[in-house]
Amino acid sequence: MHKKSDCIFCKIVDGTIPAPRVFENEQFICIKDIQPHAKTHLLIIPRDHIESLETAFPVQGPQQTELLGQMMEFGTRVARDSGLLPKGFRSVINTGADGGQTVFHLHLHILGGQALSGKLA
Ligand code: AMP
Ligand code: ZN
Repeated sequence: MHKKSDCIFCKIVDGTIPAPRVFENEQFICIKDIQPHAKTHLLIIPRDHIESLETAFPVQGPQQTELLGQMMEFGTRVARDSGLLPKGFRSVINTGADGGQTVFHLHLHILGGQALSGKLA
């Protein structure tokens, strides 16, 4: 299990682990990825701990539809304010082991600042 108490992004959100915030609002923080895969590589992190898309949209129970929409909106605003538009950017959410998820606190990758290859990741 991935516990909230062990969660590196919760520690970044609460300030236990320092990470400069490029942007933030009431629901999300935006930091630079520590291992960038593009000239600009930002992470949009919800302040609340949700493990992944799998737990955001469970088979039964509350669906985090509104939060996910707000995360896409915030990511697009961040991309625009970072100068990535109108040229464009890539947004990525990795889910689970096969999806390449390494931090089990939902986050949106924003990649750009250069022409990215056609492959997905
Ligand atoms: P994922 O593989 O989709 O779970 O993405 C996790 C991302 O978090 C990776 O791209 C890491 O480089 C990034 N990351 C891990 N620890 C930190 C940190 N302390 N500060 C910034 N980015 C981090
Ligand atoms: Zn967390």
